Amino acid sequence: MSDRYCVFGNPIGHSRSPAIHAAFAAQCRQDLIYEAILAPRDGFVDAVRSFVAGSGRGANVTVPFKEEACLLANRLTDRAKVAGAVNTLVFDGAGMLGDNTDGYGLLRDLTLNLGYQAAGKRVLLLGAGGAARGVIGPLLDTRPAALVVANRTADRARDLAQRLPVTTSLRGCDYAELAGQSFDLVINATSASLGGQLPPLPKGIFAADSLAYDMMYGQGQTPFLVFAGSQGVARLADGLGMLVEQAAEAFRIWRGIRPDTKPVMAMLRVAEAATSATR
Ligand code: NDP
Repeated sequence: MSDRYCVFGNPIGHSRSPAIHAAFAAQCRQDLIYEAILAPRDGFVDAVRSFVAGSGRGANVTVPFKEEACLLANRLTDRAKVAGAVNTLVFDGAGMLGDNTDGYGLLRDLTLNLGYQAAGKRVLLLGAGGAARGVIGPLLDTRPAALVVANRTADRARDLAQRLPVTTSLRGCDYAELAGQSFDLVINATSASLGGQLPPLPKGIFAADSLAYDMMYGQGQTPFLVFAGSQGVARLADGLGMLVEQAAEAFRIWRGIRPDTKPVMAMLRVAEAATSATR
């Protein structure tokens, strides 16, 4: 029988993870099944237990369950502890291991796919949910000149900034406090784009030659990227590369083999273009 993996989320219909892992499995000749599971908002733990009882070997976790997954796992990797959020679960004889591959995925996309180095740059991270928590540690490791976390609920941004050892100029704030500041790299880790919305960013937030990065993917130009373009930003990136890179790291954890991400990214871009053409 094929080994079983899945992604839990709510909503989950938009997830590209089944297609990505099917492509990785074919490329690496691994016999596995990967499915998307819509867990009820109050039923994540039951959904995981039922999947494990059905011989599940591992799972990805997406919005809104990453913090719940962190509480559910009986062991955590260091990067999951720093994040306080889990996007990858391994079910083994010792129970459930929780890991977080989001930060790894973002940094690989930035450095390898986009050729961007955050070292010495002024970085603005929008949002303080599971995705922001997953990437803040790896972003700090790159030694930016400053890292500011802005969130609609400002206390969440401040709490997030205070949880980490201060190795650089790191602080949390609300959107209004950003007025008059500019950044070299602005990363949208809010879920605003999912609802077609834009966080209330002041004009002038993008420095000359900045990169605007939206973790959202598969929706064409998001409101955040449209805004960045209207502010003169030439370098725009969505989160598809991060999605594929974080998935490749999860695949490596589960199967011990690192897939080649480039052909899978190309496959998804072709599928996206075909979908846009029929819209
Ligand atoms: P969470 O639900 O944990 O957090 C949502 C965050 O978005 C919170 O900070 C919330 O603010 C903020 N937010 C929601 N709506 C708005 C709005 N209208 N205006 C301003 N802020 C808003 O979600 P995640 O952190 O897990 O995911 C965030 C996004 O990142 C999603 O779109 C997800 O698809 C994407 N993502 C992409 C990945 C990839 O590989 N490309 C990986 C992980 C996530 P508040 O605290 O005030 O509620």
